[in-house]
Amino acid sequence: MDYTLDKRATLAALFRGKVDACDADPYLLKAAKFHGTRADRKCPVCKKSSLFELRYTFGDQLGQYSGRIKSDDELVEMENEFGEFRVYVVEVCRECSWNHLSASFILGDGQTRKPPRRQRTLEDEDWVRR
Ligand SMILES: [Zn+2]
Repeated sequence: MDYTLDKRATLAALFRGKVDACDADPYLLKAAKFHGTRADRKCPVCKKSSLFELRYTFGDQLGQYSGRIKSDDELVEMENEFGEFRVYVVEVCRECSWNHLSASFILGDGQTRKPPRRQRTLEDEDWVRR
């Protein structure tokens, strides 16, 4: 499952500061369920252990793959594959839907590369269906 398209809209809202408090987009909750890693702390709102982190990656050098959710292991691999990309960490509580952008940082090995050649993906199929 891939949620790249919906995610962009949600993130855009996050970065404008319009998303906080307990109103996580259903999309964000689904992403937390399928791609999230459990945070090692409790939700600041409901105090339950249902806080998950999502790591979104953005960057020109990622090409069409910019905007994807990546695991820690994948981030380590990407550090050696790309010169520079930004990671946004979004916390989502699956219990009370609280969510917020908790951190952002830059990774990469500093070598500028061209984005990968565009390939046809399932997302393209999504576009056709809409
Ligand atoms: Zn909560």
